[in-house]
Order: sequence, then structure tokens, then C-alpha cells
Amino acid sequence: MSRNIEELARDNVRALTPYQSARRLGGNGDVWLNANEFPLPVEFELSQQTLNRYPECQPKLVIERYAAYAGLTPEQVLVSRGADEGIELVMRAFCEPGKDAILFCPPTYGMYSVSAETIGIAYRTVPALENWQLNLPAIAEQLDGVKVVYMCSPNNPTGNLINPDDIRALLEMTAGKALVVADEAYIEFCPQATLSGWLKDYPHLVILRTLSKAFALAGLRCGFTLANPPVIDLLMKVIAPYPLATPVADVAGQALSDQGIALMRQHVAELNASRAWLLEQLSRLSIVQQVFPSETNYILARFDNSPAVFKSLWDQGIILRDQNKNPGLAGCLRISIGTRKECERLIAALQALSVERA
Ligand SMILES: *Cc1c(COP(=O)(O)O)cnc(C)c1O
Repeated sequence: MSRNIEELARDNVRALTPYQSARRLGGNGDVWLNANEFPLPVEFELSQQTLNRYPECQPKLVIERYAAYAGLTPEQVLVSRGADEGIELVMRAFCEPGKDAILFCPPTYGMYSVSAETIGIAYRTVPALENWQLNLPAIAEQLDGVKVVYMCSPNNPTGNLINPDDIRALLEMTAGKALVVADEAYIEFCPQATLSGWLKDYPHLVILRTLSKAFALAGLRCGFTLANPPVIDLLMKVIAPYPLATPVADVAGQALSDQGIALMRQHVAELNASRAWLLEQLSRLSIVQQVFPSETNYILARFDNSPAVFKSLWDQGIILRDQNKNPGLAGCLRISIGTRKECERLIAALQALSVERA
């Protein structure tokens, strides 16, 4: 019976490896530094008691507040179930399964390929250069049949920004042929780098944002797509009729109030200070080969014998994200910036390992 059911499924779904989210990978830690979450919860109230009614498809207050926060008009903003849904909506609106392709530059966020595989869209990869910038000539050669280029800046898991001149070159070479989706999930940690001001010049630019990282609301599942109205109108054709539950819109509205935004900025300042401290401490450890500079709430570092480091920390309840199997990232672990206490516990554990191996 179960075998027959398996045979009924689509071929690409049978072949699919689901996204290995930090939550799915599990672990019994008490120091969670593996999902780039904010380490402490923010307070909220539920004010909407009308759960007998369907929610608004695009809750007006949330859209207006996000548009004001991003310096755009409400017509340039779409809200969805996390930025992950935004990634998929673009494919569903613009890519013909079995015909069109998407392109991205590894090492980068894992959901671009997972969404493409789920929907049945081919993906092409053009590995990033050694400094993790775009390989523009190689991208230009691969663009035939590509409808969407996904570019993450600052990039997850490497933490670097993509050079604005290169992004401009990418936008020029794709004009009239493909969309460029700029994933700005971590932009609050380096707000000056946003491309939102470029939307007026590039009708094919799409920007993804989220409340999951700097806004400390990963459990809410709320993200935004910023683009010009013709793109937003097409995405609105494929989005679910009620993508956001009433309590989600309720909490998102509070997070985007003046007070909520001020709190987020204070959190960002704290995390950026802890990141500087952690970077300094990591670079002093003998088992650390390389620490990569970061514009985000995580740091990527290359270790001697990273599997042993990962396992030892895991056994002590400190959970990091292993990047060893990611192309170009042999020996690398990604560390989310936790509270200062959590950062200190991590460094103490790594110091003990460094002494052991010295
Ligand atoms: C976390 C993350 C997302 C997903 O954001 P959600 O709003 O939680 O779905 C998208 N892109 C990148 C690069 C991320 O790191």
C-alpha cells in the first residue's frame, strides 16, 4: 500500500530532500546558535478577537507600516508567510515548470533550490568567486532560459554584502529577460546597504524581507516582498487567499509601530556589538583557522577538525550550524549571535578545546 502511494507521487517530489532546517535537525541544547534567531522573545498582545472571520488577504495596517518603514508606497509591498513564501511566489508567477530555470550563486541560502525542486523548475548554479562576490562573466554565459536570479545580500551563510557595482551590472545584463530577487533577510544589521532605493530604476528588481531575524519574530512567519506594482500584481494572482492568520497580522502591526521599530534597532545595536566581541575572541583561538567578517547576526568561521568541534559543543548543549557539506565551506561552522552570556559560554567551551588540542 505505502509503496503504491509512493508511486503516485510526482517524480521530483519522490527525489526531493526536504530543507534541513535547524529545527528539523533537532538537538538538545540550551544555547541555540544555529538558526540566526534573535536570542530573546519580544512582548506582544493579541488585540483581535474576531477569529470567526477570515483575515484580510493583505492587512492594510501591516502593509502601510512596512511601506513607511521601507520608504516605499503600499503598492510596492506584499506580505506573506515568511520570506520563504516570497521566494516561492516569484517562481510560481514567473517560471514555467519544465521549461524555465532559476539561477543562484552558492554557497548561499538553501531554500532557492528546495523551492525550485518542489515546483519542478530547473536551477543553475554559478559558484561565487573566492571572495564570495558574483562571477559576472559566468552568470552572463548561463542566463539563457533563466527567468529569475536569486542573490542574497548580505549572504547567508557567509555574512558578506555583494558589491553594489556588481549588482548593478547584474541588473543591466538581466534587464528585459529575467527578474533579480535580492534576499535582504538580514538587512537590518546593515540598513545602508538596502536596494530599496533602486526599485524606481529597475522594474525587474524584487527585494525580500522578513520579521524573523532582527525583529525577533521567527515563530510568527511573516515576510515581505518589495517590488514595483506590475510585479506585485502578478504575485497577488498566485498567493493563497488568506496567507496571514489574524493573530499574525495583529503581532506584525505591533512590531512595525514606531516603538517596535525602535526596539528592533536597539536589539541590532546590541547584537552588532556582541558580534564584534565574538569576532575578536574567535580570531584569537588556535583551533580557528579563519573568521569571516560579517554584516549580519551570525559569523562564519573555519576550524581545525570542525566535525569534532561541532560534536563537542553539541554534547555540551551549544548548537551551531554545520556548513562542512556546503560547496566551498569545508571546515566551516556558522554561529548565530546569541546573548552576551551565550557568546561567552561558546568562547569558554572553544578555549577549553583549543587547550586540549595544543
Ligand atoms: C531566514 C532566511 C529567510 C527566511 O525568512 P522567513 O521569513 O523566516 O521565511 C530567507 N532568506 C534568508 C537568506 C534567510 O536567512
